[in-house]
Amino acid sequence: MKNSKNEDATLVVRSMTVGQLADKIDVPSGEIILCLLRKGVVCGKNQALSEDLVAELARHYEFDTVVPQVEQEDGVSSVTVSEGKENRAPVVVVVGHVDHGKTTLLDYIRRTRVALREKGGITQHLGSYKVTTPQGEVVFLDTPGHEAFSLMRLRGVRVADIVVLIVAADDGVMPQTVEAINFAKEVGVPIVVAINKVDRVEPARLEEIKTQLSKYDLLVEDWGGEVICVPISAKEGTGVDKLLEMIGLQSELLELKTSKSGPAVGYILESKIERGRGSVATIILQSGSAKIGDYFIAGAVVGRINSIIDSNGCKLNVLEPINPAQVAGFTSLPQAGDRFSVVSFDEYKKVRSGKVVARIVGAPVSSGASVEDSIKVLVKADTNSSKEAIVSAIDKLSKSEKKNVVVVFSGVGAITESDVDLASTVKALVYGFGVKPELHVQALAKKLGVVVSSFYVIYHLLDDIKKLIEASREPEKIEKKVGEATVLKVFKIKGSVIAGCYVNSGKIVKGGKIVVLRGKNKVAEGTIKTLQKERRAAKEVATGFECGFVAPGVDDVQVDDRVECFIEEIKNK
Ligand code: GDP
Repeated sequence: MKNSKNEDATLVVRSMTVGQLADKIDVPSGEIILCLLRKGVVCGKNQALSEDLVAELARHYEFDTVVPQVEQEDGVSSVTVSEGKENRAPVVVVVGHVDHGKTTLLDYIRRTRVALREKGGITQHLGSYKVTTPQGEVVFLDTPGHEAFSLMRLRGVRVADIVVLIVAADDGVMPQTVEAINFAKEVGVPIVVAINKVDRVEPARLEEIKTQLSKYDLLVEDWGGEVICVPISAKEGTGVDKLLEMIGLQSELLELKTSKSGPAVGYILESKIERGRGSVATIILQSGSAKIGDYFIAGAVVGRINSIIDSNGCKLNVLEPINPAQVAGFTSLPQAGDRFSVVSFDEYKKVRSGKVVARIVGAPVSSGASVEDSIKVLVKADTNSSKEAIVSAIDKLSKSEKKNVVVVFSGVGAITESDVDLASTVKALVYGFGVKPELHVQALAKKLGVVVSSFYVIYHLLDDIKKLIEASREPEKIEKKVGEATVLKVFKIKGSVIAGCYVNSGKIVKGGKIVVLRGKNKVAEGTIKTLQKERRAAKEVATGFECGFVAPGVDDVQVDDRVECFIEEIKNK
């Protein structure tokens, strides 16, 4: 939705407050605050936003931006690139139906291709690893494909460049295979098919699988299509080299480019707290280089890089693009999908001191329109696990009840004044689980008219939301027939058609819906605008009386037509 008022306007990207941005792009502050909330950023109208965040919001509202001296590349996970582009390795995700062999394939590749160096007992499971093939390097995301997909969907980051769709030869195309095909198409990522478990089937079975795939528009190369398809046995390793070769080939077709120079930009793949090292995260840089000692922002978190370990367990001083590595030095845990960027000490200081809010994230989850007819809730819980359980239960409820319930913010800890403030700004309800607001917070909630409810049992909380959903639904209406009449005469006065009728049963009601029937055919339909009985306006005319009505749109009326009258009633639940 391009802002019509500002269609030709251009925003110069610099740090500014929510209010200033709202003025510049002509979008209400509340809407921007809500948009930020949906990305997990909590802030008020007077809060300053980092340059990256201003640019992010401008993109969200389809506002053209000018970023001095920095060129923006198109794409979901737009990155800052300077000259000197070079080829880069593809990021590959393996997807497919459960038990079709995703884990076995990833394990096989890791076991045979990645030589891990155990350093000081640091676990080297990074959620991603890089392997070398004769065609070049390939980065595999060592996470279930659906997680990578959710990331792409939720945060808008292009996590993978190529999808390997694994189909077990004995089982064939199954529901999750179809889901994965649809998803890959939705995000526009090319698919390479691996028909797995070929050790279990006769060769003729491969053709059957190819037939099944063709039903989903996946026409393999030897059938004249463009989809690369490799038969493999992930268990025995047969065909895996060929698969890697084909991934390399597909990657060449994509002409993936990056640049090692310029500011480092990437995204978080995984994060965790490690004993003795604090918050660490696996990151992939999309462009630029990051070195030990660099300051960075990752989502709402800042930090300074104090160690970099790649997927082989090697300590690095400099991290370059498309080399997944574990980085330590975060002040707290970032979220998977958050954008990572190296920043100047000044920017770092501003964000750290709270003067500037920085959260550089991917594309918005969905359009603002859906938020308008949604129920907004803010959840505060006593522990992280209960918070997550509640948020996911609300999500499920939202889907099963077909009503958009948006958790605009969720957090752990007591319900505070700023929670209430926020809820008031975005018109959300506050739910506490195992936590209650203190008296002064209750007072503020009362003053601002914010509903705050606390629960100790999850399903009580969900029941409450269910009641809200029920109450928010438009009452279901049904049409009830109230009467029937026969047309005795038709008059045409000043362009209006007046049907003079005799009421045979029930009543004819002003405002009621009229259906005109000739024999068994419906010939006209409309709503009674004026109704008369004995030349006087009437609200309704009962059985045994004559009436005249005008219903716009009901022009084709003839003597002897039958007229049925209906009114709308709210259905009793
Ligand atoms: P995932 O759910 O897709 O990750 O599937 P897994 O990798 O866990 O594999 C499911 C089962 O299939 C396991 O028992 C594997 O040993 C088996 N499996 C995987 N690949 C092959 C294969 O190529 N041949 C045979 N015979 N079994 C396989």
